[in-house]
Order: sequence, then C-alpha cells, then structure tokens
Amino acid sequence: MLSGIQHFSFCKRQWALIHIENQWEENLLTVDGQIMHKNAHNPLKIEKRKDRIITHEMNIISHNLSVVGKCDVVEFYKDNNGVNIAGHRGLWSPYPVEYKRGKSKVNDCDRLQLCGQAICLEEMLLCDKIKEAAIYYGEPRRREVVKLTDELREEVLSMLCEMNEYYNRGYTPRVKWRKSCQSCSLQNICLPKMPSANSVSEYIRESLVDD
Ligand code: SF4
Repeated sequence: MLSGIQHFSFCKRQWALIHIENQWEENLLTVDGQIMHKNAHNPLKIEKRKDRIITHEMNIISHNLSVVGKCDVVEFYKDNNGVNIAGHRGLWSPYPVEYKRGKSKVNDCDRLQLCGQAICLEEMLLCDKIKEAAIYYGEPRRREVVKLTDELREEVLSMLCEMNEYYNRGYTPRVKWRKSCQSCSLQNICLPKMPSANSVSEYIRESLVDD
C-alpha cells in the first residue's frame, strides 16, 4: 500500500507491524484522521468547475513499483500538454491533493506519499512528469504546495523498493527504542521498552537448572 510510505519513513518496524502483520490500534489521532477524510470526500463525486475537473478517492496503481493506493483528490486542469479524459473535451493535467489532519511536518513522510501518488498517476495516465502537488492540512486549513523534485522521487523509489523486499520476505525489523516511540500509535503492541527476551534454548536451559 502506498500509504505505508508514511509509516515506513516514521519507523520500518511500525510499517511491518501494520502492513505485514496486520496489527492496528486506534487512538484519538487515528480516529480524528479518519473522520476528517470521511467528511472531506464523497467517493462517487466528480465535479466540473470551469477549467477544472475534481475527482475524489481515485484508486491508483503502479505495476512498475508493485504498489497500489488511493488519491484523496485529483484535480485535472486544462493543459495543451495534458492527456485525454473520457467524457471531457480537451487535454488535462493531473494535480493530486492529499488531506491530512494537523500541521505540516518537519519530516518528509506526507510529501513522500504524495510524490508516490504522482508517480502512479504518471504511469496510469501516460502523462508528463507532474511538477507539483499539494497537501491540505486540517489545522491551518490551508494547502501546502509540494514540488515533486528528482530527489523526492528517488527517495520514494528506494523506499518502495525496500518495502517490497521486506514484504516479500515477510520481514519485521526488530524493536529498537527511540524518542519517536513515545508518539507511536502501536507502542502497546510493539512494547519497545520491554527487555529483550531470551532465546528458546536459553529459556529451556534456565528452566532445567531451576528444576
Ligand atoms: S514503538 Fe517504536 S519501535 Fe515500535 S513500532 Fe512504534 S516507533 Fe517503531
């Protein structure tokens, strides 16, 4: 799942717990994010406003990168260098917009996810490189424009490559406590501060000695 990019960039173990082991725990922040998405979207709605078509909840895929996902919103603008869209005259260029709760983050996790969406759209629509896209943040209620630079694209590709490799191996990285564990939604499942357990052979040996 493309949305896994933000988990992977936060913590590779968190990503593996969610996307390989299907572990999840709701908290105030996760539920708040879901409500915001629900309020912002109508999956069946396609709006046409002057020279702009707005689609909601568009399913996306990249066969080259073995990834699937969903764009919260894709706006299509009239553009002579764009592509055909069934049912609409003229040529159109896509502009993905992702909705997030809270504020813009210091790290690039949201921007990486957005860039991944653009790469999928380019492959699906056979269009030119999408130069920029936007993230709408719920707290300032504003859009942040994101330039889809070559550096950001390279980071997305290398991250997806590593995610696919872990996924195919069914590999969950070992726990390693860090400061960000305090804000992790899976800390009650991951138990980052639990002392590392003995191996099975050590456990059996110690049990035999005790007896
Ligand atoms: S608790 Fe820490 S190590 Fe465990 S998944 Fe969360 S961030 Fe990663």
